Amino acid sequence: MDLTNRKFLRAVPIHRVLRRFGRVLRTSTQVEFKHSLVVEEIAKFISHSWQASRWSKTLTLLLFYNWKAAVIVSNLMALLAMILFMFDLLPGFRKAARWGSEPLFVAPWTVCTAVLCFVLVLIFRAPKEPVFLDRLCINQRDEHEKAEGVLNIGACLKRSRKLLVIWESTYCQRLWCIFELAAFLKTHEDKDVVVLPTSLAQFVIASIIWNFLMWGFYVVLPFGSQVTTYILLFGYCAYGWLLSTVAVHHVLSVEKMQEELRNFSVADAKCYCCSVNHKDPSGEDIPCDRHVMVQCVQQWFGSIEEFEMSVRSRLKDALSYSLGMFCPYSLVVTSALPCMWVNFDFAAARLYRRDPFGAIGMSIIGLISVFLLAPAGVALIILVIRFSSRCCLIFRKLLAVGVVLVANVAVHGILQVSVDYAGEMWGPALCVPASLLPTFFLWWLTTRNSRGFGTDPQLKAEVPENGMTPSKSI
Ligand SMILES: [Zn+2]
Repeated sequence: MDLTNRKFLRAVPIHRVLRRFGRVLRTSTQVEFKHSLVVEEIAKFISHSWQASRWSKTLTLLLFYNWKAAVIVSNLMALLAMILFMFDLLPGFRKAARWGSEPLFVAPWTVCTAVLCFVLVLIFRAPKEPVFLDRLCINQRDEHEKAEGVLNIGACLKRSRKLLVIWESTYCQRLWCIFELAAFLKTHEDKDVVVLPTSLAQFVIASIIWNFLMWGFYVVLPFGSQVTTYILLFGYCAYGWLLSTVAVHHVLSVEKMQEELRNFSVADAKCYCCSVNHKDPSGEDIPCDRHVMVQCVQQWFGSIEEFEMSVRSRLKDALSYSLGMFCPYSLVVTSALPCMWVNFDFAAARLYRRDPFGAIGMSIIGLISVFLLAPAGVALIILVIRFSSRCCLIFRKLLAVGVVLVANVAVHGILQVSVDYAGEMWGPALCVPASLLPTFFLWWLTTRNSRGFGTDPQLKAEVPENGMTPSKSI
């Protein structure tokens, strides 16, 4: 796995991949090789299937690289909007308060500012980390350079610190993708593989939009009205449906991947060149990648059989383990942030009328919603999906919607009783210890065996024997 020439170890700053919403990830786009530079080491090697949608791949990369910066900036701007509103520098409107007889002067400035900043940072921040992307780092216009660049991919993988797998259902059907992952695992530990499922990014973004719309309406509409109640009920059902759909899709695609890898053979794996009968769109002949790949496999694995064995065992285990955990805690919290910002809007309204205790109470509700209730809700749906594996799809989704609805009605009831009993500050404060234990328990149940999310019966026996260490997921 040595370089034939140092000039083939190349990388581009990741913002070159992300600019114009991942234009280079579109197969029909002409790309510029000149943007890549010769480097000493590659930070991340991007492994992806060209069959997957450019939009979902770009969204996944944007979230992976920019979510932390987006969370920091949006929270700082939320704080600024709160302060400006509190000092009467932003307009608002009067509406009846949920608790107490005095009406509130309120407006959704905090949530609107924070969501806008989150989206802007997510899309326009330009990280500079050097990454390897095949189209930008291998000269596509010179056939000789291209062939030698392809032969050097193994050496580039060896000199990459991490492998970024943008995973969706077609990934494991592509010979190139499997080859990149297997070659990387040959010289690295499993924890160096970072698996980014595209469905996770779609869920996080959809959840932020849902939370923003639902809770944004909640600020504007009058408390306790029929319209508000219907919007809340519809919102909870939509959220349950969204999350259960994504979770079921994820489980099924992981099971399909396990089945495909268990029966993997080089002869059956797909290559772009073979699928178009070795003709490019202009009708010109293109060489078959399969020949190059067989050459590389024999060089790095000894034989095709060795390679296939490695894919069926270690590679399958590594992918299954990484994909077992559907959504990490940090991203569940991020996906629910608009709910916290809306409560900060109500806290600012309390501060406007010089009611610091009420403001503390509203802030506590916002923090509980995001750090405890949202993770508990996601854990609950994952458990429902996991334990209803023998039921039909539609029943699993309806069950998840029902559980979300009942759980939210219960949470509203408990909060109301707490406030009636202990007041606007101590009521929400009492809910912290009350929700801490159930959340911890549900999250522990969901994550204690993250590889168990898929239902591969062989998996539980295989993983401990191989001494797997968990791979990081975003
Ligand atoms: Zn071919």
